[in-house]
Amino acid sequence: MALNLIILGAPGAGKGTQAERVAKARRIPKISTGDILREAVQAGTDIGRRAKAIMDRGELVGDEVMVAIVKERLDRPDVAAGFLLDGFPRTVAQAQALDGIMEGRAPLVVVDIEVPEGDLVRRLSARLVCAVCGSNAATPEEAQSLVCAQCGGQLVQRSDDNEATIRERLAVYRAKTMPLIEYYRARPTFRSVDGADSPERVAEAMAVAVDGAQGVGAAR
Ligand code: AMP
Repeated sequence: MALNLIILGAPGAGKGTQAERVAKARRIPKISTGDILREAVQAGTDIGRRAKAIMDRGELVGDEVMVAIVKERLDRPDVAAGFLLDGFPRTVAQAQALDGIMEGRAPLVVVDIEVPEGDLVRRLSARLVCAVCGSNAATPEEAQSLVCAQCGGQLVQRSDDNEATIRERLAVYRAKTMPLIEYYRARPTFRSVDGADSPERVAEAMAVAVDGAQGVGAAR
């Protein structure tokens, strides 16, 4: 059965890192709305130009734009065996729209990665990402070298990983995205994992959570 997975969690919880691993292991496309927006900014498209200011303030791009982007992406044939959404949905309105898009497809598996807020600020302030492929630096050696271990690109700080924008992103997360946990919690395919552990341990917990939830989803 197709694995239709969404990963929830605050900024800095490790969604991107875990999403990359799970997508590779399960051979499903990783769809990161943050990456899609950053590509649009780079390409200088209309959406990119409008999104840049919003992203730099740490606010959310409008639901209508985001739902249209995801709907178009989930209409492509490469999601037939499943997909992984990273960074979407971020509001209850987006989650409701996604439920509409999912009609007639395998049920959503929802995994929430939980990390204490103090850790999030520390992680985001120190985070380095590849300017070319968007991967996070995974080890202190890699961060020190400023060279991406995946593609050789340059590691840089994201323009929204500064203290003021980080605070705003966390406030937006609490107000707009945390309610999603309640939106999904009652579903038998919802799981939450402790994200304060090492990336390897979190990946193990993710694998168990995804297998368990997918099994429940398949039985329904
Ligand atoms: P991320 O890479 O997931 O941290 O996203 C970076 C920024 O892109 C966010 O702070 C938002 O401004 C914007 N963004 C990404 N995904 C969404 C979404 N689903 N809804 C609204 N804004 C988004």
